[in-house]
Amino acid sequence: MAKVLCEVNNCHYWDEGNKCGADAIYVVSHAGDKASRSEETDCKTFKPEDM
Ligand code: SF4
Repeated sequence: MAKVLCEVNNCHYWDEGNKCGADAIYVVSHAGDKASRSEETDCKTFKPEDM
């Protein structure tokens, strides 16, 4: 499995060392089903840590 590094430290799945602890993540594009730049993508698995 790919290792995911992430700086969103208020996510429920975030672990020390900027590691994502989710079993899998779902990445979406804001530009249809393709993207031209990383800024057009987002992690849909994000969940606030207090939920
Ligand atoms: S689920 Fe997404 S936002 Fe949350 S720690 Fe993992 S990569 Fe980051």
